[in-house]
Amino acid sequence: MILLKNNILKSILLNKFDTPYNSIPFSKIKPNDFIFAIKEEIKITLIKIDKICSQTDKPSFKNTIEPLSNCSEKLKIISGILFSLNNAETNSELQETTKLVSPILSKFYNDLSLNKKLFERVKQIHLKNKKKLTHEKLYLINKLYNNFIRNGVLLNEKNKKKLRLIDKKLSLLGLEFGENLLSDSKIFHINITNKKKLLGLPETSINLAKDKAISMNKKGWVFTLDFPSYIPFMKFCDDRKLRKKMSIAFGKRGFQKNKNNNENIIFEIIKLRKVRANLLGYKSHSEFVLEDRMAKTEKNVISFLNNLKEITLPLAKKEWNFLKKFSKKNFKINKIQKWDVAFISEKMKKVLFEIDETNIKPFFQLDKVIDGIFKISKKLYELKFIINKKIETYHPNVNCYEVYKKNKYYGLLYTDFYPRKGKRNGAWMTSFIPQRDGQRPHVSIVCNFSPPSKNGNSLLSFSEVTTLFHEFGHALHGLLANSKYSSLSGTSVLWDFVELPSQIMENWCYQEDSLKIFAKHFNSNKKISKKIIRKIQKASIFQKGLETIRQLSYSYLDMSFHSVVPNKIKSIKNHEKDILKDLQFTPDIKDNCISTSFSHIFSGGYSSGYYSYKWAEVLDADAFELFIEKGIFNKKVSNSFCKNILSRGGTEDPMKLYLKFRGKKPDPKALLRRSGLILK
Ligand SMILES: [Zn+2]
Repeated sequence: MILLKNNILKSILLNKFDTPYNSIPFSKIKPNDFIFAIKEEIKITLIKIDKICSQTDKPSFKNTIEPLSNCSEKLKIISGILFSLNNAETNSELQETTKLVSPILSKFYNDLSLNKKLFERVKQIHLKNKKKLTHEKLYLINKLYNNFIRNGVLLNEKNKKKLRLIDKKLSLLGLEFGENLLSDSKIFHINITNKKKLLGLPETSINLAKDKAISMNKKGWVFTLDFPSYIPFMKFCDDRKLRKKMSIAFGKRGFQKNKNNNENIIFEIIKLRKVRANLLGYKSHSEFVLEDRMAKTEKNVISFLNNLKEITLPLAKKEWNFLKKFSKKNFKINKIQKWDVAFISEKMKKVLFEIDETNIKPFFQLDKVIDGIFKISKKLYELKFIINKKIETYHPNVNCYEVYKKNKYYGLLYTDFYPRKGKRNGAWMTSFIPQRDGQRPHVSIVCNFSPPSKNGNSLLSFSEVTTLFHEFGHALHGLLANSKYSSLSGTSVLWDFVELPSQIMENWCYQEDSLKIFAKHFNSNKKISKKIIRKIQKASIFQKGLETIRQLSYSYLDMSFHSVVPNKIKSIKNHEKDILKDLQFTPDIKDNCISTSFSHIFSGGYSSGYYSYKWAEVLDADAFELFIEKGIFNKKVSNSFCKNILSRGGTEDPMKLYLKFRGKKPDPKALLRRSGLILK
């Protein structure tokens, strides 16, 4: 222990931070510090675990569960700082460090979940009469116990080895799947040298293509299958032949006769997932995954999807016919193909709603929107945000706010909004310090919004505004948390529940009463007009039926790969066609396949979980209906949402928490009502 103590002094990460609110002293942490600190902290944690296991006293909540739930907190904080920085402000040293540290951490957590002595103690507590314990304590015991079982602690040595081998293979196959997709994307591009072919494309997209061409030493403009290039191309390029070329190339990824083909990888992944599930005592991968989700069973997921499909499909068909008519009349296209849908829809949207981004953006200046979100949080949850320039951040563009609820300190919020080198795409929320008894959280939201123009104004598109509200909702879930244990706090909830707090916040972007608070012209400070608000509201439900069917088809496809006997699938393409036969509106393209580029389920974490997008939407639409009914700033409703959902994290079964807030189960029709698909 003396040796360890000396080492602690050597690394700033192992010490208590001597800063305001113990905030992270970013400037003093060097990439090298992480490896040393993580290795040291693992040693310290192992000593703590050893101490728990070698006690002679009978296992109890106090001598086993409590210390176990806290013992790796520091390790999680240190590795969390590393991973967050690697996402938001990385460099080659940090990337190298992350690569070195990842296997060390997975080995540590693996060994921990297979520690038999520890499991025996947890098991004895799990078996005991626990009537006197609080919900939270009971939930914690169950969570720890189930984690052991789900990680294979009960298997014999031979099967444990088999399980680890499968896990290793699966993680490599997932990586290979993603790499193949990337390689297939890279081998294709369109080089345009005739300016006329660019007709219809927005300037930003043309400029991007110009830069790409320069970087490739080519003349003219280069368009690729990367999203920022591909999406606007499919939406706006007037040249139908070029759209077709682009679309087919996109749909071919992972499905060509080359070394990047993903078909066999899919076969292998679904087989291994099934074997893995069987080994652990489950019939299918879906059964294994869903046991630990709000949806609980495959049957529930399928009937949830069927329910939405039944009502939505006829409406989607109506929307489709509408699109067909529009297409015939305006473009003389009788048979809409895959490469026409986004293009024609975009034109139709413009005619229907006369919505032009350039007229909307001036009303959404980033500073005013943030100020508005703070005001809305005050109205809903009595929160106050005060910027503190003295608190260190990891980049000059990152701000840190002290957060107060009814004048009581509640945590820190970091905001990081603009893209830069070393920051990955997208938007996310992360937490540096978790909340628990006696400790307030430090959370961060990271986005990639339009950078400020020369005069210093950052004007957001409407979808950037909703993204900001979304991430802010996650931040509120973290900031308002009031759990006793950090492993159950804030966003540590079941996978299909975590998007409720974020998605519900997006609703305040569409309401007149909340838009009035923050949608003000950046120059004149004039409030957004009612006319524009109506347009935004109408456009938000445009083609919702078709969009819903598209998402449902992905969910069915996901479930189909993980609930059947994999041997029954002989051809990926035929299987996919069979599953999607009633759900596709454009003719099938023989050379294209969805599954071979479905990275969410084959190289991301969404297997048997794609449904959760729609699931969470139902929750947030149903929850928001109560706000609509009682008033979007009704204190009673917001207090109840905070008390029963936001502050509770994962301390109880989410459906129970939801029932406490809503007084009834979520109604899928609430989503259809909000989407304008049904009236009642
Ligand atoms: Zn989210």
